Amino acid sequence: MGSLFSSLWPLRPFRSFCTWLIRSFWSKKRTSPTKQYLNVTSIPSIILVQPSPKLIILDLNGTLVFRKKTKKTRKVTLRPFLKEFIDYLFTDGNFLVMVWTTARPENTKIMVDLIFENQKEKLIAIWSRDKFGLSKREYERHTVPFKDLDMVWNYFNSQIANGNLSKNTLKNSSELSTLDPTNTVLIDDSRFKTQLQPFNAIHPCEFDLKCSRNGDDSELKKIIKYLEVIKYQSNVAAYMKDNPFSVQEEIAGK
Ligand SMILES: [Mg+2]
Repeated sequence: MGSLFSSLWPLRPFRSFCTWLIRSFWSKKRTSPTKQYLNVTSIPSIILVQPSPKLIILDLNGTLVFRKKTKKTRKVTLRPFLKEFIDYLFTDGNFLVMVWTTARPENTKIMVDLIFENQKEKLIAIWSRDKFGLSKREYERHTVPFKDLDMVWNYFNSQIANGNLSKNTLKNSSELSTLDPTNTVLIDDSRFKTQLQPFNAIHPCEFDLKCSRNGDDSELKKIIKYLEVIKYQSNVAAYMKDNPFSVQEEIAGK
């Protein structure tokens, strides 16, 4: 039985992929970018004289922290340069910042308190697992959902239209009239979750047990450098499509 199991082991990723494909088709959930999105990403980005406001969407586990599961609890380790990174986002004057995580609300609260401390009021939103439109079964079964930025844009654009969006971290809030692929950056270690709007995502390497033990991780410092370029772009998705974060790092590393 054991040898039969091990002989079938290489098929498991393939079986998982097929199951995911069938479920996606059956549930009629979109699994690729829309034509409209791709059209926007083909409009060339130009370098602006002054930075323009950008929305930064932050994943938590694997991106800003590592949560180690133990029998009784989960220990949260903060990624190196996290304080510098958060301070940069909140004080630069060009970023609106929100959290979007697949963690449950109760776990999200623990991580957000540790990461943002007394600055958490500056976040324009904290979205957890309950903000993905999952069925009760999907919510409980640890289904991994996509982060569909259309949900974010629809929600905040109606807030902007009603004058309800707090823009207290922006220097020039009047310059922001709408949120869309040209001015949104999702920072997430998972490529799977960002596949509906892939050119709006920065993928730092996953902050895991090995990284947290090594102590030499500097991904957040590298992201600050990348955002210093991004904030001057007229079309974030177009720029990131041609100059993705990972490739930039390979070039810088040479
Ligand atoms: Mg993650």
